[in-house]
Amino acid sequence: MTFGFDIDGTITAHPVEMGAIMKALVDAGHQVIVITGALSRMPIPVEERQRQLAELCSHILQLTHYHDIIVCEAETLEGVARLKGKVCGERKVNMIFEDEEDFVRWIRALSVQTACVLVRP
Ligand SMILES: [Mg+2]
Repeated sequence: MTFGFDIDGTITAHPVEMGAIMKALVDAGHQVIVITGALSRMPIPVEERQRQLAELCSHILQLTHYHDIIVCEAETLEGVARLKGKVCGERKVNMIFEDEEDFVRWIRALSVQTACVLVRP
């Protein structure tokens, strides 16, 4: 199966737990994709996101504990949310961990096969 993880407010809020889940999923043979967002006026390169993940989860997570990082970049937050939904559909994500309710709504609308876990701080 394929699992998606948001960074801001999800991995950043629970780095120990999310890192452990990601590692366990990869170790069990599942696909793990980090699906993060950025506004076009404040772009964040993938390399920066990789550094961020390495810092957040250095206790457990290595580059081998996720298979891809996708930065959904758009001019508005709604655009980012739509893009996350589109990516979940295209990549056939079975389950995503996400902290933004608006994003969850768009993911559910645009990728019906994706179960959404709404993460609270
Ligand atoms: Mg978030």
